[in-house]
Amino acid sequence: MNLYWLQCGAGGGDSMSMLNMDSPELTELCHEIGMNILWHPSLSNHSATEHEQILEDLLSGKQVLDIFCVEGFVIAGPDGQGGYDLLGARSKLGIVQQLAARARVVIAVGTCAAFGGIGNIGAIDAGGLQFVGDEPGGVLGADYRSGSGLPVLNLPGCPTHYGVLADTLMGLADGQLPELDPQQSPRQWFDMLVHQGCLRNEYHEFRVEEREFGDRGCLFFYRGCRGPLTSGPCNKLLWNRRSSKTNVGVPCVGCTSPNFPQQHPFFQTPNIADVPLELPAGVDRAHYLAYKGMAAASAPERLKKRKNLV
Ligand code: SF4
Repeated sequence: MNLYWLQCGAGGGDSMSMLNMDSPELTELCHEIGMNILWHPSLSNHSATEHEQILEDLLSGKQVLDIFCVEGFVIAGPDGQGGYDLLGARSKLGIVQQLAARARVVIAVGTCAAFGGIGNIGAIDAGGLQFVGDEPGGVLGADYRSGSGLPVLNLPGCPTHYGVLADTLMGLADGQLPELDPQQSPRQWFDMLVHQGCLRNEYHEFRVEEREFGDRGCLFFYRGCRGPLTSGPCNKLLWNRRSSKTNVGVPCVGCTSPNFPQQHPFFQTPNIADVPLELPAGVDRAHYLAYKGMAAASAPERLKKRKNLV
């Protein structure tokens, strides 16, 4: 199974995440599933000439392309020609479009490749592969399908967790095509909320709030946590097998969401009369207010005095 990795706009955080793969490690994964990385900017030691030949062989169809991974938003400017972001004499926009036409599977690694991410707020005419924010389209168009019949597999996150990438690659190597949600992300990892599994759930339940960083409590009501509004496995697939943002007191910033980054400042919850404007996904406002009022009134002393370990 051949894989080619193209880095486009924004940083290489998803590559950094991939290099953190630990169980299995990346080299073990390649060995176990028979994956041959034709090119990755952080791993390959080919010369520019050799890389050009690899690319030429892929573009001409001489070399089969099983997996095409794109990291970062794709820049279409100026004038829809992609000239702001080049690889040699070629625009990366052109490479994306041509390789996507040849690939068996295309994976958007990270939120920028999936939805445009921070590229959507610039003036460089950038977007994701099949979305710009939550609008279908992107540089490949909403109707694009790879050789396997799938649309682009979106693995959002800033960065995406290496476990999601490893799991997806292992499934593909085994001939399994993942079931996708409406944002084209594998349901196995994105049919859950970041809130699920957070060690601060009991504080949320009784509306014991964290107003100052370093305190103990739920970060939803004042510190801008988007865990109850954001799909993703961040509190199921832990980083370094032991931690997550919310578990160490950093609010979820919703980085897996199509509309990341949000328009209002991070680490603040827009409130009216102490009630967050955005409530947990799918929750009825009137019921939530009544329930949270009663829950806060019945909060146990050990929580109010922050006696829990978290
Ligand atoms: S800190 Fe965020 S993820 Fe954790 S319980 Fe509170 S709202 Fe949910």
